[in-house]
Amino acid sequence: MTRPNPSSARLRPGFPARLDTRNTPATQARPAITPKPLPGAGHKNTLIHGVGLDSSAVRQNMVVKLAQQGLTDAAVLQAMGSIERHRFVDTALVNQAYEDTSLPIGLGQTISKPGVVCRMLELLRQGSPGRLGRVLEIGTGCGYQAAVLSLLCHEVYSIERLRGLHDKARDNLRHLRLANVHLLFGDGMPGYAKGAPYAGIIAAAGGEAVPQAWIDQLAVGGRLVAPVSAGLTSAGKQVLLVIDKTPQGIRQSVLEGVYFVPLKSGIA
Ligand code: SAH
Repeated sequence: MTRPNPSSARLRPGFPARLDTRNTPATQARPAITPKPLPGAGHKNTLIHGVGLDSSAVRQNMVVKLAQQGLTDAAVLQAMGSIERHRFVDTALVNQAYEDTSLPIGLGQTISKPGVVCRMLELLRQGSPGRLGRVLEIGTGCGYQAAVLSLLCHEVYSIERLRGLHDKARDNLRHLRLANVHLLFGDGMPGYAKGAPYAGIIAAAGGEAVPQAWIDQLAVGGRLVAPVSAGLTSAGKQVLLVIDKTPQGIRQSVLEGVYFVPLKSGIA
């Protein structure tokens, strides 16, 4: 399957991207990340330099283990080998940053385990050699997956409903100065129409169904990867769903069981 590079699409939004908050007065629109130099060397993770986590060997080891699990997309493995996951977790957890485990990131949320991030990004890219065009991520969390995505597509729009995590992601990503990552504070249920159409949509939180808005905002030839529950499996269980928007219509595949935090409406 080939997917169009939507970078030439007429709907390409202006920058910085802002959520249209006219219908959600409680929300304060925030500008997207503007790459700025770090003020001095005061980044919190300066602390962990010298304990080995800033060495690429530790990430290569993680990548080798991911490859042993059968994850084979070289571009995704390379991207995961270059983004320092330990910079996205709390200091007390950095020693577990390269284990294949999910970790708490505050406010009851978790960063997905590397194996799941790798699998979902691999699915998102399947059949599309080269960089994807614009991608929408629902659930920025700590910003790790957005950072990996930034190496695999032209533009990343990442939306988070919890202000505390939106702010944390912005802090975590600052050192990378990624001009193609646009962080949005808001409810991702209605997607983000201003960035549409998307070559890919990826959700890091699971609802009972994929909102129709996400499918509407997918480009023809685009792919959506999301955890979903209910209806498809027994109560409480989630599966990975892949939706392809083809010129002939929607094609849906139900894949393996997964465990993600719930997709919730509104902001907090
Ligand atoms: N990709 C993230 C994983 C974050 S966990 C990372 O790399 O850290 C999933 C996130 O989805 C949580 O932060 C949760 O607050 C967020 N979320 C849940 N429902 C949402 C919604 N409707 N809109 C935006 N974000 C949502």
